[in-house]
This record gives sequence, structure tokens and C-alpha cells, in this order.
Amino acid sequence: MSREGRFGQFGGFYVPEILVRALKDLEREYAIISSDKGFREEMDRLLTTYAGRPTPIYYAQRLTEKVGGARIFLKREDLLHTGSHKINNALGQALIAKRMGKRRIIAETGAGQHGVAAATACALLGLDCEVYMGEVDVERQKLNCYRMELLGAKLNVVRSGSKTLKDAINEALRDFASSSDHTHYLIGSVVGPHLYPTMVRDLQSVIGREARKQFLALENHLPDALVACVGGGSNAIGFFHPFLEDREIRMIGVEAGGEGLDSSRHAASIVAGKEGVLHGARTMILQDEDGQIAETHSIAAGLDYPGVGPEHAFLSMAGRVEYMAVEDDEALAAFHTLSETEGIIPALESAHAVAVAIRLASQSTADSDIVVNLSGRGDKDVNQVASMEGRL
Ligand SMILES: *Cc1c(COP(=O)(O)O)cnc(C)c1O
Repeated sequence: MSREGRFGQFGGFYVPEILVRALKDLEREYAIISSDKGFREEMDRLLTTYAGRPTPIYYAQRLTEKVGGARIFLKREDLLHTGSHKINNALGQALIAKRMGKRRIIAETGAGQHGVAAATACALLGLDCEVYMGEVDVERQKLNCYRMELLGAKLNVVRSGSKTLKDAINEALRDFASSSDHTHYLIGSVVGPHLYPTMVRDLQSVIGREARKQFLALENHLPDALVACVGGGSNAIGFFHPFLEDREIRMIGVEAGGEGLDSSRHAASIVAGKEGVLHGARTMILQDEDGQIAETHSIAAGLDYPGVGPEHAFLSMAGRVEYMAVEDDEALAAFHTLSETEGIIPALESAHAVAVAIRLASQSTADSDIVVNLSGRGDKDVNQVASMEGRL
């Protein structure tokens, strides 16, 4: 396989033979399509006229004053159509699939956020869409299931394994192995076998490119620190990547600490995991003593995944990006703080990053600047939080 599929010892192409041809085709066609001027122009048009780019960078003055210390800025991916950064990737891959002549899209989803983004992109571009979702998640996320159906997608309920996200990915890969002539597998994060971690990173890097330009225009210098939450890691890598060569910038990826790292109810794959192979890539994963994939937990469904994108595993090993875990309680506190100080209700996933920005700002001086990637809005989480707090 090509060197591009490797991030140090991580990444790669650990798939059954039957998938190799489909993935090789994707790699070859993507190289052509991604450098095509017409594709870039159409992508740009969809992102601006449909998804709502560019998203603003916003100085969170009242949050900054409340915390006391470094200035906190927000990159507002929560303002995008469908409510998060996931639409950047869904539109990109759907457009690529269409250019490859594929009529059918399959996708996996955990909480339903990526399923909705994929169904949206398919409705827009006139592609058939089928979404794999674990039976446990279907029960937990009834409304997102209906939303996908409204958008014209078909739901395939997965009853194997733990009946959650990791099993949905397995089923989607299985489908892809036998359908790739006319089907594209639209994976939702920087996970899975090569080419996905690279392609999804490229599609999400619009976040960091915009943020870099906007921050320079606003402040005439670069920020001191960047913070983003990490589930599979697509919003974080898209935000960090265009800044990686700016060695003086500190970057922090925030994983789900759940109920604590010693509780086994968390999803901190880098901070508390071991090296292994999951969904076709070598990366950091949460596993038990027998090497079985562990059950994970987070208050934020979008962070509840036992692996992480291989490039994050590499950036951690290389010491370029720091990774930390934030527990449910601290994320929930940040969810409230941002809502009250700024009138912005963040996704529970993004609240993990806000929590670290608050910690960091309070330990820093007023002449330093922190930018948080606010990956999504919290409308989807209001019901869950209200019921946890006994308010429904
Ligand atoms: C899905 C999701 C995430 C986690 O996915 P990444 O690939 O790690 O970005 C984070 N925030 C929001 C709002 C999400 O919907």
C-alpha cells in the first residue's frame, strides 16, 4: 500500500482481500477528482451557498471575563446546516461519489448525527442513501431515525455484536465489499482503512484554513492554543492540520473521560487505550485483557467510540498534540457556562473542548489567546440534559 496511508506506525489497510479493490479504486479516483478545478469550485459553492461557510470566529468576551485569564475565541461550526462540522465531510464525499458514477451511498451512524448529514447530502445531490445503525442506538435516538427517513434515507438496523456504532461500521464495510461497483461508503470520521483518514481530514481542513486566515485578519498574529474535542477525531484534525507547522502553537485534543478513567466507563482511546487494529487501521483503542473491544461510555454520544483516527495516535506519539480527558460532570458544567455567558448552547461533544479552554484560560495570562473549535450546537442534547437534571 502507498506510504500516504501511514502515520508513523499507525493507519494502514488491514482489510479482507475483497475490500482491497474498492479501496484502491477510491484512492486512485480521489487523486484525480480532488485536484480537479471543477470539483473544487462545486465543493466551494456547496459549502458557501448551502452549508453556510465561512463560519465566524467569535471572541467570547463574557466567558473570558468570567474565567479570568487568556482570551477565548470560538470557531462557530455549530452554525452550519444540520448543526455541526459533519456536513463538510458528508457533502464532500457525496460529491466525490457522484463524480465516480456511484448512485448509492451507505453510511454508519451512532447517535444519528452523521446519518442525518449523509442523508442530507444525498437528498441534495439525488443519491440513494442507506444508513447502518445499531439496534441499541435506534432505541435511544428515535427522532434522528425519523429525521433520516424524512430526508429519504433507508435505515438498516444492526443486531450483531453490541448493536452500537462499532457494529454498524462492521456491517457497512461488509456491504461495501460486495457493492462497491455502484456504492460509496461515506464514513463519518477520520477512522477506518486508508484512504478514509486522509480524505476526511482533507475535507474537514477547511475549518483550520478558514480559522487561520480569520484569526490573522482579526488579531494580526496567530493564536497561542487550539482546543477541540476528539471522538473519531475529524473536527479536531480539520481544525489542527493547517496549523501543524506553526510549532509555537499548543494544540489539545479532548477525549471523553466519562465517569472517570479508572471507572471503565469512558471513551478516552489515546489517554487510556492500547495500540491495536480496529476497522481496518492500526491505532489506539480501548480493549480488555483478551484484546476484545471494550464497551465505552460518554455523556456525549458523538465521542462514544472505542478507537480514534490513526493520525491522532501519531500526533500524540510524536508529541505535537496533547490529549486529555474531560469527565461528564465537567463537560456538563461547561455546557451550562457557555449557554449562560454567551447565549450559545454547545453540543455536549463540543462542551468537552470548552471545559479544557476554561481550565487553560484560568491558568494563563490575558495576553494569550485560545481558540476552541465549537464543533456543533446543543439543540440535539437539550432533551437529554433536561431529563438527566430531572426537568422533564
Ligand atoms: C460527531 C461529533 C463529534 C465527534 O466526531 P469527530 O470525528 O471526533 O469530530 C464532535 N462534535 C459533534 C458536534 C459531533 O456531532
